[in-house]
Amino acid sequence: AAKAEGRACYRFYNEDMNAKAVEQLKMEEELRHAMGNQELELRYQPQISSNSGAVVGLEALVRWKHPVRGMVPPNEFIPVAERTGLIIELGEWVLEEVARHCAYWDTLSLPDFRVSVNISSIQFNQRDLASRVSHILAESGLRASRLELELTESAIMTDAPTNIARLRELKALGLALAVDDFGTGYSSLSYLKRFPIDTLKIDQSFITDLDSADGAAIVDAILALSSSLKLQVIAEGIETEEQLGYLLKRECHLLQGYYFSRPIYPEDVPTLLKQDFGPVLKRLASA
Ligand code: C2E
Ligand code: MG
Ligand code: MG
Ligand code: MG
Repeated sequence: AAKAEGRACYRFYNEDMNAKAVEQLKMEEELRHAMGNQELELRYQPQISSNSGAVVGLEALVRWKHPVRGMVPPNEFIPVAERTGLIIELGEWVLEEVARHCAYWDTLSLPDFRVSVNISSIQFNQRDLASRVSHILAESGLRASRLELELTESAIMTDAPTNIARLRELKALGLALAVDDFGTGYSSLSYLKRFPIDTLKIDQSFITDLDSADGAAIVDAILALSSSLKLQVIAEGIETEEQLGYLLKRECHLLQGYYFSRPIYPEDVPTLLKQDFGPVLKRLASA
């Protein structure tokens, strides 16, 4: 009986795998279609200066508004886009869409701010990435100084000499570079001195763990590292007053998370940019 059961399980497993593969193929097809069909949209999440309480940056985050499935989160479709190579086109669309939004915001005489765009490792591995980005900037009129590219540690660590060269080419365009999800890449830290990086983005998981001694120790270590290497540092995933209070005491430069705002529609950005978080920060810093 055990044997028969085992076989039944095996067959079930096979069917399950098959269903998954079919589902994947379907998603690939649909994603290809989505790109041409205006189903992708951007949201923006604010980044706040801990000194002034002003919104000094926005992170662009892509969304897929699927006609049947509804909102598909990026963690579900970015991997599909990466596997199929569609991420190249998708990533360039994001830059163009950001440029389009910035061109509009520029007509509203808002305070100055920067936009951060996530770059996939597949995009980063393109030999001609800098010239592609340069081309998009030239075509769209987006100022390089407004743009920050977020790269993950694992994306830039793999082939150091090639990657340093590529990062330098990007920097030469006049944009800023951030290491996203910092601390999760298990890599040597020596690259930080050699790579032309502006900002470290403390991974959300460490902010979530701030209420434990170990979590706080990791955040302290990243803050100390960024201070001695003279890098900017931003905490992402701040949800509670306790987390924020801790980061303010430790003088973390920039702050991002649901505590301040969820990612919002581009239409709501002008109002958000006028928001002053200064009073909230002052109250917590003195608490
Ligand atoms: P990420 O770049 O690390 O972005 C931060 C993610 O954390 C976003 O999820 C954001 O909505 C979420 N988040 C922000 N604050 C909080 C908070 O306080 N609590 C919690 N629980 N979550 C918070 P999202 O938008 O679902 O994006 C997930 C990931 O998908 C991003 O992680 C990034 O790796 C990728 N992604 C998003 N947009 C793009 C894109 O345009 N291109 C590429 N290549 N990847 C993207
Ligand atoms: Mg990011
Ligand atoms: Mg991140
Ligand atoms: Mg992440």
